[in-house]
Amino acid sequence: MDDLDVSAKCQASHPTRGSVGNRQLCADIVPEQRALTTLNGTFATDDNNCAVQAYERHFHDSLERLHGEQRYRVFADIERISGRFPAAKWRRSDGTVTEITVWCSNDYLGMGQHPEVVSALTATAHRCGAGAGGTRNIAGNSSPLVDLEGELADLHGKEASLVFTSGYVSNQASISTIGKLIPECVVLSDAFNHNSIIEGVRQSGCEKRIFRHNDLGHLEALLREAGDRPKLVVFESVYSMDGDVAPIGGICDLADRYGAMTYLDEVHAVGLYGAHGGGISERDGVMHRVTVIEGTLAKGFGCIGGYISASRSVCDAVRSFAPGFIFTTALPPPIAAAARASVRYLKHSSAEREAHQRQAAATKRALLAAGLPVLPTETHIVPVIVGDAELCKAAADRLLERHAIYIQPINYPTVPRGTERLRITPSPYHGDAHIAELTAALAETWDTLSLA
Ligand code: PLP
Repeated sequence: MDDLDVSAKCQASHPTRGSVGNRQLCADIVPEQRALTTLNGTFATDDNNCAVQAYERHFHDSLERLHGEQRYRVFADIERISGRFPAAKWRRSDGTVTEITVWCSNDYLGMGQHPEVVSALTATAHRCGAGAGGTRNIAGNSSPLVDLEGELADLHGKEASLVFTSGYVSNQASISTIGKLIPECVVLSDAFNHNSIIEGVRQSGCEKRIFRHNDLGHLEALLREAGDRPKLVVFESVYSMDGDVAPIGGICDLADRYGAMTYLDEVHAVGLYGAHGGGISERDGVMHRVTVIEGTLAKGFGCIGGYISASRSVCDAVRSFAPGFIFTTALPPPIAAAARASVRYLKHSSAEREAHQRQAAATKRALLAAGLPVLPTETHIVPVIVGDAELCKAAADRLLERHAIYIQPINYPTVPRGTERLRITPSPYHGDAHIAELTAALAETWDTLSLA
């Protein structure tokens, strides 16, 4: 029985029922599913069984579609082993456990297991307990959170910082709020921006213009076109799938010339670049020129949470107006303390950053020497292109099952179709022996699956 049959059956038993409200519900679902509801209002029925079947069928069909497009995601059950980064345990569905090497973690420097970070976490949990106790409106600011915000403002040389529960939320909440607060604002957004930025721009309700990725000429044309309206340029420093870097200084020059604000996502750079881990903008000496710097505590800093660093008034405005900040429980004190320990540590230690760059370069050299299709990058990200969703998944499965190497396949919509890849992220703890093992495993996998 297909969807229409289910609806028709329910409709037959309740021919007069229907509801605009339910139509609206369905209008929010995927387009091809709308027709069913506009036809007959299936979901408004006293026969709950029929309605449940219709709803279930929609979920089932949506998943079938994902399977058909080779886009259904399977998450491996991986438990990281503290103190032995990048080793982890992989538990199969039959319960058996194998020790594996993780090659795709965004805990880029292994800071999630650093002794200073772990001891800040546990000491604060013993002192304050596990949770925050509510939104900041209700529970107030915890001291570890206030200290963390001070640490982050200092890292980026800004007046203030505001911490959120994730990097995703920080983009969504901040961009949408900044955009809403500036009348007639036009947002100029890089074509390769992350989904959290896209959502922030969408929710701002602002007119948006997309500039070609890292294309200063195109950005300038759009800035000129926007005339004397207020403008916000939104972009990333390190683009995480291709590993390329934005011309931050050039974008700041244009922003100055055309009177625009700048919002820079440094999620894949904080902790990793710059003398103190302030990101690419610190490395390039342009941190002070960027209006808002956004970062995560979950990648280079190894914990969880996100933030913006900016002027006192920008941070206070976002704090005061952003629903994504106001109406959600604050980051727990142990996490705030752990994140602060990580930020502080990386401000003063460059050893991890140097080893990270060294091992990333060594990995690229080894894979290229083995004839593997490594996308050239100037950063720590090492994409190896497969170009087919099914083969990409097959390669990842083989690496895990046969070689005990975990690399999550990256498929559409995270990257365009035809550019499916294995995204490898070497860390300071991937030694030369790990690199040799990875190279041999990839070469064997490429041969066996006849990959190009
Ligand atoms: N911004 C970019 C560019 C990202 O790639 C991501 C996540 O990968 C985020 C923001 C979200 O950060 P978080 O993982 O802390 O939510």
